[in-house]
Amino acid sequence: MALDPPTLLILSIALAAAAALYLAIEWRNVREPSLLFWSAGFATITVGSTLALLRGSGLLLIGIWFANGLLVTAHWLFLMGVARFTQARLSRAWYLIFVAWIAMLMLPGEQPWSKVMLLVNSLLVALPTLKASMLLRPHGKSLSVGAGQLRYVLLIHGLFYLVKALTAVVPGTLIDLAALRGEIIQISLVEGAMAIMLIALSMTGSERYRREKRIARLASRDPLTALYNRRALEMRAPRLMEKASTERPGALLLIDIDNFKLVNDLYGHTAGDRLLVALSEMIRSGLPEGALAARLGGDEFVILLKNASTERIETLGGALREEFHKAAVQTFATPEPVTLSIGASLFDQPPASLAALIEQGDAALYESKRGGRNSIRLVDRTRASGEAQWTR
Ligand code: GH3
Ligand code: MG
Repeated sequence: MALDPPTLLILSIALAAAAALYLAIEWRNVREPSLLFWSAGFATITVGSTLALLRGSGLLLIGIWFANGLLVTAHWLFLMGVARFTQARLSRAWYLIFVAWIAMLMLPGEQPWSKVMLLVNSLLVALPTLKASMLLRPHGKSLSVGAGQLRYVLLIHGLFYLVKALTAVVPGTLIDLAALRGEIIQISLVEGAMAIMLIALSMTGSERYRREKRIARLASRDPLTALYNRRALEMRAPRLMEKASTERPGALLLIDIDNFKLVNDLYGHTAGDRLLVALSEMIRSGLPEGALAARLGGDEFVILLKNASTERIETLGGALREEFHKAAVQTFATPEPVTLSIGASLFDQPPASLAALIEQGDAALYESKRGGRNSIRLVDRTRASGEAQWTR
């Protein structure tokens, strides 16, 4: 079968219909509005390409300007979808594209107007496509892999239409929209079929990557404080613990609020939650580079340090205790002081497991509580120290 223009158009109709359906099903599952815009864009291409087939039957008004106008509408819908996806606000000037489309209606389809028509039409496709690609530029933080792909696919597609607009004005090129004749029209039909596939795939890809990232984030964070939860710590701790050596010991600090129940009982659970969030902020802001922090549950937090020393533990723990005590005293009057107890363990050999390390921290924390709370208990397990212990 020769790839003549009607065959290519039929191929595009089938691909666009499949893409519209695929994105609509994706939208039904996840209800992301951008997918609906994109699906509508491909549905519009399906209708537009079907109408374009009518040129062969001499229906030029519908087969040319209406069909090409739908192609412009489809790319405008893609832009709307990208704007939803990136949460960007679009200027109302983008609605003027439809005014330009109506103006296109005034042009007859036959030569020599074919060239003007192709020029205007290609520019109206190129502009929203390039704008969509620009919206997907990374702003500050990096884009997900999927959005990066979509950005480049749209950029290449938009540039293709820009070149197409330029070739329309080159003297001597044959462009006959009524008969779908001319090299650029032929190439454009092939590019169209490819673009449908690439754009549809990268659109679903971008949504999926974003969703996966969101789910991974939800699964690894404690919902109240947004610190890592126990599961995320278990996944990340081994890399840090394995690096412990005599030159660069590691350390674990197990932190528990003293008399936290009093805050809950006297001021309510919400006040207790606020104090937990405040403590998590203090932990986060004082966290050295490469360290890990997590909320294990309740009022218990953990910090894992690399490149640690007894002095560093004392400085970090002391600063945390002081800052927390100040904040708690200012906010809550309680019969017993609301302070921090810390159990710390310094090691220069990788511990057997995170659980074993936490158990060591727990034993030290228990000693700190038993000794009257509001203190740090450190067990130095480095070989040179001979398991020195102190409470401060
Ligand atoms: P201690 O000085 O011995 O540590 O006693 P404590 O009063 O701090 O109580 P403990 O550490 O034994 O228990 C922690 C309490 O924290 C128990 C529970 O009621 C409360 N709690 C656990 N999770 C949350 C939470 O998400 N929000 C609030 N507001 N309270 C919580
Ligand atoms: Mg407690």
